[in-house]
Amino acid sequence: MIVRVPDYFGEFSCIAGKCTDSCCLGWEIDIDEDSYEYYMSLSGEIGERLRRDMYETEDGGHGIRTNECGRCMMLNDDNLCDLYIAAGEESLSEVCTDFPRFGIEYRNVDQKCLSLACEEVCRILFSKTEPVKFVEQELFGDSDDDQGVTEEEAAFFEKAQSELIAILQDRTKPVSQRVDEYIAKANEYQKELNGSDVEKHVDWLSFNDFSFDSFDIRFGIVNDMELLRQVWQDYKDDMRNILIEADYEKRMKEYMESADYRENDIEQLLVYFTFRYIMNAIYDSNIIVYAYLCVMFTMIVRDMNAVRFFKNGGKFSIEDQMEVARIFSKEVEHSEGNVEAAKEEIIWG
Ligand code: SF4
Repeated sequence: MIVRVPDYFGEFSCIAGKCTDSCCLGWEIDIDEDSYEYYMSLSGEIGERLRRDMYETEDGGHGIRTNECGRCMMLNDDNLCDLYIAAGEESLSEVCTDFPRFGIEYRNVDQKCLSLACEEVCRILFSKTEPVKFVEQELFGDSDDDQGVTEEEAAFFEKAQSELIAILQDRTKPVSQRVDEYIAKANEYQKELNGSDVEKHVDWLSFNDFSFDSFDIRFGIVNDMELLRQVWQDYKDDMRNILIEADYEKRMKEYMESADYRENDIEQLLVYFTFRYIMNAIYDSNIIVYAYLCVMFTMIVRDMNAVRFFKNGGKFSIEDQMEVARIFSKEVEHSEGNVEAAKEEIIWG
């Protein structure tokens, strides 16, 4: 089995009680089948508490209740997990053990990324000033399930992913130029897949378009998404109030021409999204749609950055970047429905 990860993967370790956010805040906590069975047999006070706080989900699965503030019922006042303390890490359900690691598997490859929904991952990623590299490690034990992907298909998409990331990391050019080349390259790959000369252009989605109309479409997409946490509603209200039609372009340029606009942050975002989404095309052959999705997500974070910049009175620190990216990721990336809604707009919009 080959495991492919970004070079900072090994730097991550959960900061637990020191985390100001915690992944147990504001999300549904799913319980996998094996954990459910284990929890049903777990003895002692922690077992009784768990059984009291578990519920059946609409699809017949199980989850752990959250309180009125959206905190997992196992999370104590020190932001530590009582289940972990009482029964150890192996007692945690899959979703708690895996987070913030997410990935895609195909043939003999397990490609994993660290999600920006985690505070510590944001700290690690935005502290990087060099282009991120991706490393592979061969582990014992091959998968005998090729997931319906041929060797040639795997090689095609791996090459596409590498080339797209290399374009984004070419620091001899401004990011705006890199993004144009990135979309052009994704279109080349898509044409090869489709066997046609037709290129896909999403007219309202150009990285260098600072028109209010373009922002308004992006905003409409996020505004219609499922709301997971109040902080997202507050952010959307700020976006509506600060990025107004009369001077959207002027405000974006003011932020982007300031000393606090860092191309490095934008590159890291684009590369992060690309590594997270492009390989999904191996299962639906929509490489250009994922490329646009990565650009759109980066543009939304850039809009959010500008909002924070003006709220701060013309300042935007690296800590602001870490927080803004986390708010976006936690709300948008971690709802399958929200990511699907964004994809649909790109496909049909
Ligand atoms: S968000 Fe990250 S650092 Fe915070 S508790 Fe969860 S895994 Fe740990």
